[in-house]
Amino acid sequence: MDTLDPRRFLSALLSMGIDQYVSGSQERPTLTRLKARVEACTCCELSRSRKSVVFGEGSERARVVFVGEAPGEEEDRQGRPFVGRAGKLLDQMIERIGLNRKDVFICNVLKCRPPNNRDPEAPEVEACKGYLAAQLELIKPNLICTLGKHAYNTLMGVDARITKVRGILTSYKGMRLLPTYHPSYLLRNQGAIKEAYDDMEKVKSLLAEVSA
Ligand code: SF4
Repeated sequence: MDTLDPRRFLSALLSMGIDQYVSGSQERPTLTRLKARVEACTCCELSRSRKSVVFGEGSERARVVFVGEAPGEEEDRQGRPFVGRAGKLLDQMIERIGLNRKDVFICNVLKCRPPNNRDPEAPEVEACKGYLAAQLELIKPNLICTLGKHAYNTLMGVDARITKVRGILTSYKGMRLLPTYHPSYLLRNQGAIKEAYDDMEKVKSLLAEVSA
């Protein structure tokens, strides 16, 4: 956090129309302050149906940030990302890297649950994606691991199929980005788990490379 450039952080917020974050208070932006802002957000319709805002959780100094799509029913109830069966599988994927939940940061593109777990809609993604950009700007991980097509497409500004891009290393604003499958998809398609575990091996190697 000491290396945070407030101008880049502000530019991420400005991209979503927020202009009072720094100018009103001169306070250094932090994840905690951003979280307070997000928890009060009513920028899209999802604010009406949510039980909780699921900001994300983990280490502010995480070397890896996992980004999913949106909170589901249980996440909405608990206010935490990736709980339940998909969360357990994500925990196993993280263990493959030799880390655990506390070492990484886990969040979603949308911070509020779409009704009936439907896919995020374009206006919702547009309204919310600046928060994700700000989270990544604050944490500055060595690697972003996107889970499923929505996180990848949002950050890369494309409309790709996850089966075409998974496992292919790319970058987002100077940070390495590796797309893999969403754990919910893996629960329905167990044959793909080996590929996801291969991706975690790649994550492990990339982190070792950075540390060397
Ligand atoms: S989904 Fe994002 S933009 Fe919509 S209300 Fe929640 S925090 Fe705000």
